[in-house]
Amino acid sequence: MSREALLEAIARSIRRCRRCRLWQTRTHAVPGEANPYAEIIFIGEAPGREEDRTGRPFQGMAGREFNELLGVAGLGREDIFVTGVNKCRPPHNRRPRRDEMDTCRRAHLDRQLAVIQPRLVVLLGSVAVEEMLGRKRLKGAVGRVIERNGRRYFVTYHPAASMRFPGPKRQARRHFARLRAIAAPSGPS
Ligand code: URA
Repeated sequence: MSREALLEAIARSIRRCRRCRLWQTRTHAVPGEANPYAEIIFIGEAPGREEDRTGRPFQGMAGREFNELLGVAGLGREDIFVTGVNKCRPPHNRRPRRDEMDTCRRAHLDRQLAVIQPRLVVLLGSVAVEEMLGRKRLKGAVGRVIERNGRRYFVTYHPAASMRFPGPKRQARRHFARLRAIAAPSGPS
């Protein structure tokens, strides 16, 4: 099967998923998109209001900030794959709970990563860092490449934070400016 077909099969199972309580309050699940052959995959937190409404990742204001950051990297949405730890919106945008994160990652995100096999996994914010690296805090990880189980991760701020706070805004732009070099074969760390 092609990568497109495999990812579509995963997306279908995400849209039908009832493994955790979040299916009860979702409008649309958000499997992620776009390029099945992406060298860089971005992992955020969970859908918000606009994502839940449209079924697409990173819409609204955080989506515009994400697009701007991608532009700094010389990338567009068509070059990358973007998704979240959780595929369904938590009520009132609360932080996803541990069991929701673990369940969704094991059932869906791990499978997406196995299909795409990206050179670099960019973790956007603390939920992604907690789930993928088992670290409670961004501090000490942000701006760094971290190797774990044969996979390369790069940690930066969630666009919802970088659009609000001047320090993260400045730093995120510096991080994104380095992304393509970091993702290149034998790229810098
Ligand atoms: N994760 C996020 O943080 N935002 C989205 O839009 C989708 C996944």
